[in-house]
Amino acid sequence: MNTICALCKTELTSMDTLLGANKLSDGNVLCNKCLNETSNINEELLYNLNKFSIDDINKMLKTENKEPVSPVAVVNQILPATVDSDSSQVSKEVYKRRQRKIKFELEKLNANLSMFTKGEIKELPYLISEEEQIIAITDAQFVNTLDAGILVATPKRMISVSKGMFGAAKINDYLNENIKSVSFVTDPRSPIIKLHLDERVVEFECYMDKEDAEKFYDTIKATYNNAKEQSPKQIDPSGKSVSVSSEEIFNQLEKLGKLRENGILTDAEFAEQKKKLLEQL
Ligand SMILES: [Zn+2]
Repeated sequence: MNTICALCKTELTSMDTLLGANKLSDGNVLCNKCLNETSNINEELLYNLNKFSIDDINKMLKTENKEPVSPVAVVNQILPATVDSDSSQVSKEVYKRRQRKIKFELEKLNANLSMFTKGEIKELPYLISEEEQIIAITDAQFVNTLDAGILVATPKRMISVSKGMFGAAKINDYLNENIKSVSFVTDPRSPIIKLHLDERVVEFECYMDKEDAEKFYDTIKATYNNAKEQSPKQIDPSGKSVSVSSEEIFNQLEKLGKLRENGILTDAEFAEQKKKLLEQL
C-alpha cells in the first residue's frame, strides 16, 4: 500500500489510516490534512474520493486558485443538522461528515490508539454529532472482559465503546451530571480508570498504553474532579455536591484496591471494607 500522501508527499501517520486510508482511483493516497483541504474545494471528494485520481485533484486545485471560492461549499457546511444519537438514524452523508471531523479531532489530540480499536472508532460518527467535541480519547476496556474498547471524553459526557469480533458494539454513555468524580489506579501492567457514578463505580483497564491512559486521566481529572469542587451546583443539578470527605473515601478505596492487588487483603475483605466506605458517602 502507498504510504506517502500523493499531494504533500509526507509520510502517512497511523491517524491517516486508522479510519481507512484515503484512497484515490489511481491507487494514490491522501493524508487527512490534504483530504480536508481539497474537500473544502469540492465536497464530493469526501464522499467519493475513490472516483478521483491525483490528476483530477491537481486540476481542481489549479482551477480553484484562479476562481473565487464558490458559495456552494459554504452552504454545504451549514447543512448538518443535529441528529440524535440513535445510530440507525444517521445518514451516510452525516456519517461521513462526522467521521471527517472526528478524524481531525483525533489528530489534533495526537490520539494514540491501538489497531484493536478500529471497530470502535468506526462507531464514533454514529454517536458524536458535529457540535460535540472530543477532548480526550484512549484505549480502555471494561475490567474482566476480553473485548477491546475506547473511552471518549467530550464536554458533556464520557462514552465507552467496546466491540468484540462479532456482534454489535456496546455503548455506554456517562453524562457529566452522573459522574461524581474520576480516579486512577496506577499499575505497572495496566492502570485502571474509574468513573465514580451516583450509584456505582465503573472500571476500565488500560493495558495497551499506560502513558496514554495517564494523559487521558489528566484531562478528565481536570474536568470532573476540579470543576465539581469549584462549582458543584452548576454541574450537578440535583444539588448533591462532592464533599471533601467523599474524596477522602475514594482515596481510601484506592488504597484498599492496592492492598488487595498486593495480596494483603482478600477479595472478601476488600469487598467488606469497600462497602463500609461507600456507606459513608
Ligand atoms: Zn498530504
